Amino acid sequence: MSQSRIHISQAMADDTITRYLNDYRCPDCLLDWQDEWDCACNDRCPACHKEIVPLHSEDIAL
Ligand SMILES: [Zn+2]
Repeated sequence: MSQSRIHISQAMADDTITRYLNDYRCPDCLLDWQDEWDCACNDRCPACHKEIVPLHSEDIAL
């Protein structure tokens, strides 16, 4: 069983940092990229600067 309930706001209470590797794809440019964030947040297409919702995000515990 894996339940992941993650709240970043209390980061000072815990020294484990959870990072997310997000996969993005721009539907206009057909460009794929990945970026690492501390949440599964949107990114901008490097070509057309459209805001893109992540296709997939994977948590990577450091
Ligand atoms: Zn684009």
